Amino acid sequence: MSRPKVAVHKFSSCDGCQLAFLNLGESLLQLSEQLEILHFLEAGMSEADAQVDIAFVEGSLSTPDELERIKQVRANSRFLVSIGACATSGGLQALRNLDGQHDAWRDAIYARPEFIQTLKDVKPIASVVDVDLELWGCPVSSPQIVAAVRSLLFGVAPVDDRDRVCLECKRQQAVCVMVTEGKPCMGPVTRTGCGALCPRFGRDCYGCYGPAETAQSDTLARRFAGLGLMPDAIARRFLLINSQAPSFLQTGRVFWHSGQEAEDD
Ligand code: SF4
Ligand code: SF4
Repeated sequence: MSRPKVAVHKFSSCDGCQLAFLNLGESLLQLSEQLEILHFLEAGMSEADAQVDIAFVEGSLSTPDELERIKQVRANSRFLVSIGACATSGGLQALRNLDGQHDAWRDAIYARPEFIQTLKDVKPIASVVDVDLELWGCPVSSPQIVAAVRSLLFGVAPVDDRDRVCLECKRQQAVCVMVTEGKPCMGPVTRTGCGALCPRFGRDCYGCYGPAETAQSDTLARRFAGLGLMPDAIARRFLLINSQAPSFLQTGRVFWHSGQEAEDD
């Protein structure tokens, strides 16, 4: 029986989620016996146009070329899995969407802006093509990837873990840093997948795994105000990494604008 074919594609990103593959170590060797990896530039395989069973896509869409390339990847793939904050919600590069000043930023950053072709708004993958599974996180974790691959290999629907980080804290018996230390923790609205990594080390979650299901972002933002955070600090909590996730974007914008109005007064 032929092994399922896999590709790992990179778009606008830092490569950190691809490292989650490379960091699999022994598990990657086992997987490579069960899979045929045709395209994964960071690991030395280069067949970008190959037809595959599973395409993993890292990164957001930030150039006209990428808009065309993702459509080709979709057409060549049976399952398309977007991995990481850039692919699922735009990532850090989508911060430029917030103020509508694309041209000003481009002209300020690049010595020869006339050679730079970028989209005015950075787009998550699912806003342009159908995505079969989204793995959130900045970066995603290696166990998430293994679990997704194994589910797809065995023909079962991968588990989409939308629990909150708070629940993971309870499972891991981590002391709540918001209750005990008044830290502005994003755990109540953030999906788990990281094993409550930050609270277990005594720091507040900053939301890198994106919104949990039915995230009560406005309520948490008001709690942050009660802890003494100014509006722009609250906005940064919600807009830093997953700014294009609707629940975070909506709340972040409200506090960002109210912070700017306060500065203008
Ligand atoms: S530390 Fe954060 S994630 Fe953990 S229980 Fe408290 S609020 Fe929730
Ligand atoms: S606790 Fe929050 S910030 Fe830390 S890894 Fe998990 S989701 Fe990301």
